[in-house]
Order: sequence, then C-alpha cells, then structure tokens
Amino acid sequence: MRKLYIAGNWKMNMVPSQAVEFAKSLKEQVKDAKVRVMVAPTFVCLPDVARVLKGSNITVAAQNMNDHESGAYTGEISPDMLKDIGVNAVILGHSERRLYYGETNSFINSKVLLALKKGMEVVLCVGETLEEREGGKLEAVLKEQVNVGLEGVDASQMDKITIAYEPVWAIGTGRTASPDDADSAHAYIRSLLAKKYSADVAEKAIIQYGGSVKPDNVKELMAKENIDGALVGGASLTLDKFLPIVHCI
Ligand code: PEP
Repeated sequence: MRKLYIAGNWKMNMVPSQAVEFAKSLKEQVKDAKVRVMVAPTFVCLPDVARVLKGSNITVAAQNMNDHESGAYTGEISPDMLKDIGVNAVILGHSERRLYYGETNSFINSKVLLALKKGMEVVLCVGETLEEREGGKLEAVLKEQVNVGLEGVDASQMDKITIAYEPVWAIGTGRTASPDDADSAHAYIRSLLAKKYSADVAEKAIIQYGGSVKPDNVKELMAKENIDGALVGGASLTLDKFLPIVHCI
C-alpha cells in the first residue's frame, strides 16, 4: 500500500520571515497528518525553515540544485550545501526550469545522479505541454523524460525517487487534468518503471500529480488507483488551501 505524499512547491514566493511563520503554523497543524508532507521553499528560506521543521513530520526540499559538487559556478547551490543545513530532498526537472532555464532531460539526469550519490531524495517532475498532448505525443514525451531522467539510476535507488506527473498546461492555469486522464498518464509512467526496473519497483513507486490541485479537486484525484499524492504550487502558499489538501484523507 503506497502512502500518499503531498508536497508544496512554494516557487519564488515568501520572504524568510513569512516562510518561518508559515512553517511554524504548518508544523502544528499537520502533525497528525495521515499523508507524508513536504515543503519546498526558496534557497534563502531553506536554512530557517529547515531549523523550524527539524524533527517534525514535514520533509524540507530544495526546488533545484546544481549538477556539480563544488567549484566556479557563480550563483549556484550544491547538494552538500543543502545537506549541511539539513535539507535532504530536492525537486528536479520542474517544467518551469525546463521552460525558462532550458533544462534538458540529460542535464536533469546529471542532477538526479548527483543527488542520489549524496544520499538525497529526489522528486523528478515530468509532463507534457498542451501542444505535445494535442499532437498525440504524450507517451513519447513521458517515456523520454522518465527514461533519460532516470538513466543510470539503479533499482535499489528507486525508493529515493518520487515522480511528479505535471501536465504543463495544468500548472498555475486553474486547468486540471481530469482524474481519469491523470490516472492513465500515471499508469503509463508506472508501466515505464516496470519495464525499466521490475513490477515490484513500479508497484512501490510514488507518483504525484501536479497541476492546479486545490481543496475541491484533491479527493477525486487522490482516489485514483495510480495517483499517490500531489505536488502543489499555488494552493500550497496559504494554510486555508494547503491544510485541506494535506488532510484530504
Ligand atoms: C507546481 O508548481 O508544480 C504546480 C503544480 O503548480 P500549481 O499547483 O499552481 O498548478
């Protein structure tokens, strides 16, 4: 039985003082949650939020990291820097990073491998654009993103990987994939994992859905067989929206 995993991606929102207050309230109000919970603040909020949430049931993740261990990469953040402040998880391959910063599947793969080498947990985001979906390329796009994104990742490391299926056209747009459409994309991703690894790895894999998840659609989405949680953007920024999502079961 897979445990639901609800993650809040705060994107470029909240200054550190706001993030700390938010994290303190969240910690109190999700301590009895039946799901696993993650938040991903911006880099400058991470040290304070990690301190506030230390020892809680909330995982703290970075929204990105560099693909090198250290060196002359001005403005970048390494996995060791994250680990040193108590951050052991990272979201990689978010569609905004692919779209605005040109991140390719193989570049994302190099970060996945480095994060795993450092013992970090990874949420690997995949998902098609509207054009790709309407052009009948959904499966081809997912296949490439999953297979290249996980190249060199061993079956024994797959318990450190969560896949987030996020159709790009549903992110921040208010449009949600129908629960049936999302479930069938998740089932396809699971079949890719079965083929690449084994039925057992596929069965155990946590596949989150992301794209305009809200309190009023979360239950229907989470009821689907292949949907094991949510990666939430906009609705993770206020407690009145995020708490009902976390407490959806
Ligand atoms: C996201 O940022 O991953 C996301 C799904 O955003 P939103 O929930 O705002 O669509």
